[in-house]
Amino acid sequence: MTPRPLSTKDLFRPLQYVAGVGPDRADLLAKLELKTVADVLFYFPRTYEDLTTTVRIDQLVEGAEATVVGVVHSVERQVTRAGKVIVGVLVAQENQLMRALWFNPTFGIKDLQKGAWVAVRGAPKRKTMRWEMIHPKVMRLDLPTAPPLEQLAKPGLRGADVAAASSRPDDPSADSIWLGKYRPVYGLTEGLNQREMRKITTNIVRRYADLLEEALTADLIERHQLCSITQAVHGIHCPQQASDVEIAQSRLVYQELFALQLGLAMRRYRMTANAQSPILTDTAKIRGRILRLFPFELTNDQQQAIDQVCEDMGRAIPMNRMLQGDVGSGKTVVAIYSLLLCVAHGYQAALMAPTEILARQHFNTLQKQLKSSRVRMGLMTGSVSAVDRAKLESDLAAGKIDIVVGTQSLVRGNIPWQRLGLVIIDEGHKFGVKQRAKLKQGGCDPHYLVMTATPIPRSAAMTLFGDLDLSVIRQTPPGRQPVKSYLVELEKRDSWWQFMRKQVEQGRQAFVVVPRIETQADDDQTVTATRIFEELTQGVLQGLRVELLHGQMSGSDKQRIMKSFHRGLTQVLVSTTVIEVGIDVPNANCMAICSPQRLGLSQLHQLRGRVGRGSHAGYVGLVLDEISQPETRERLQLFCRTTDGFELAEADLKIRGPGDLFGTRQHGLPPLLIADLFRDHEWLVKARNDAQALVQADPELADPSRKRLRQLVMGKYGKVLELGDVG
Ligand code: ADP
Ligand code: MG
Repeated sequence: MTPRPLSTKDLFRPLQYVAGVGPDRADLLAKLELKTVADVLFYFPRTYEDLTTTVRIDQLVEGAEATVVGVVHSVERQVTRAGKVIVGVLVAQENQLMRALWFNPTFGIKDLQKGAWVAVRGAPKRKTMRWEMIHPKVMRLDLPTAPPLEQLAKPGLRGADVAAASSRPDDPSADSIWLGKYRPVYGLTEGLNQREMRKITTNIVRRYADLLEEALTADLIERHQLCSITQAVHGIHCPQQASDVEIAQSRLVYQELFALQLGLAMRRYRMTANAQSPILTDTAKIRGRILRLFPFELTNDQQQAIDQVCEDMGRAIPMNRMLQGDVGSGKTVVAIYSLLLCVAHGYQAALMAPTEILARQHFNTLQKQLKSSRVRMGLMTGSVSAVDRAKLESDLAAGKIDIVVGTQSLVRGNIPWQRLGLVIIDEGHKFGVKQRAKLKQGGCDPHYLVMTATPIPRSAAMTLFGDLDLSVIRQTPPGRQPVKSYLVELEKRDSWWQFMRKQVEQGRQAFVVVPRIETQADDDQTVTATRIFEELTQGVLQGLRVELLHGQMSGSDKQRIMKSFHRGLTQVLVSTTVIEVGIDVPNANCMAICSPQRLGLSQLHQLRGRVGRGSHAGYVGLVLDEISQPETRERLQLFCRTTDGFELAEADLKIRGPGDLFGTRQHGLPPLLIADLFRDHEWLVKARNDAQALVQADPELADPSRKRLRQLVMGKYGKVLELGDVG
């Protein structure tokens, strides 16, 4: 019976109905979010093992990783006095022997039998008698009983030779077929091993990859010299050589970034193409009136950012801009300018902060700054009572309030703005795409400015905020004090706390920050903060006025404590990372960060921005609570050496990967499966340019030649980017 010919529909076949998978394995695969044939085709290997060449034992080189194929000559087992099991295996190639050693070996190794054929891969070490490999990887080769020994021992043995000699020359679960190739290594889940995974994937690729439809148009494939999607999927799962992986990767990376950039470009197009925003022109008269409010000259960067904002706000399409500037660079000035420009034209403006504390602080700053003006302001946070909220809403509806400052509660429910012209979001990267969309108004689209102190590397900014224009403030305002940072090792802790105590006794104030631990619930962080608070108040900080601030407190307690710290009544504030962004207490010049190894460099840098804001030099101590690993120390030392937020952010991205701060997931976007923002920067630029040009020419990807491309973009990003589907 000949099998029914397959069609593209079969790409969506549930895995349980796929030959060689079945319901049990399908359940396991579902844990990896693999449900259909297509999911498996696009489940890319984590890495590869290079099995392209094998070597003769007498040609091994000290320390150079190599694969040796041979027969198990003998197996020795020993149990040390401490109860450790050591297994030593002599691997023979004719009369040459190499020893492989494992301590507490895994199951498969304990089972090795004399006479079995194996490929052993590791870094060889020359001992007096013979070569040795400690903890090498081992593959059992499924070879017939009378193997051609001389052939196996020859240099540069190719997999084809072995496969030909194998009893199951085409079975992807047999180790032999991978010899001479790059062997893929997949992310697994419990109950599913590499062998099975390779078998499933290889079978699916062989059977279904040819069905894949090309999503990229011929001109793009030609321009970037990409391979076809079918070739890419074959190459990534079943490469014959290293170059196959590279060719496949280029294609898949480009496609992934291109689809994302298209989604972002389409989103931007829709937000601007049909949108109608108030034209809020900047005039010399308005400018003069606003600048008079600032007791200082603006820096060039502030000036430039304001110019860019004014240009945007002077057009009928909504501004869509991100203002990026290190902590203390003076972003608030730009924000105030934009708010007042909006109000000057009789429109309302909203300023949204990530926490209640920050919203209040912004509100106070604005009130002070606008004391002499007639601007009417309101504050809307989670702790505003229902009655007050109702009053605020009716005032907003009646146009009795010009500027409202608040938290996320500004996007809860539908606020009946009279004429909302501008929305500013402080620390916008903490807000999702969806919340942002909620601030859009029916008839009129407000201008939109998002401010962030996180120096976002360009590559990440282009990806995650690809639909935003960028203004950057790099200069800090004159008169800022330098901040010195120290790595405080265990044995130096006492002298650090003494130093901090002295600063406080000289009239300064200090922060002690207890970071949130990723896997930890809020209350655990509170427990740790409480413990440290008690240790300090009963120990080295005894007699000082120390307060504890944590996320579990009520809004009014937090306010009371912040107020007391602002006024200088509290000398030391022990706090969870609530204070991460924006707190401005110029007299606070000293900060201890506990367990700093748990934080990213960018987060540490944000915290550091809280000190050195006044006329006194700032000090930050990274107080270690365990002996640090060399890599940790190196990372933290980099932090102490440089105050360049961009450098630190790039280092974060390199060390911890984009998963962290700049993770696509955190922004509500699906994760990138193969592209790496750092490694693939060049592809990112190309993909972005191509996407922007294409959306200019064909905003809905409506051309029939782009049908598959449109499906790809909509399937992946249509929902999260709220693109809707009109076609
Ligand atoms: P951030 O970018 O962190 O929001 P802020 O706007 O809070 O920074 O500014 C930090 C401090 O610098 C504030 O006290 C502010 O008054 C001051 N500042 C801002 N711009 C200038 C300037 N051009 N000259 C002098 N001081 C400035
Ligand atoms: Mg700020």
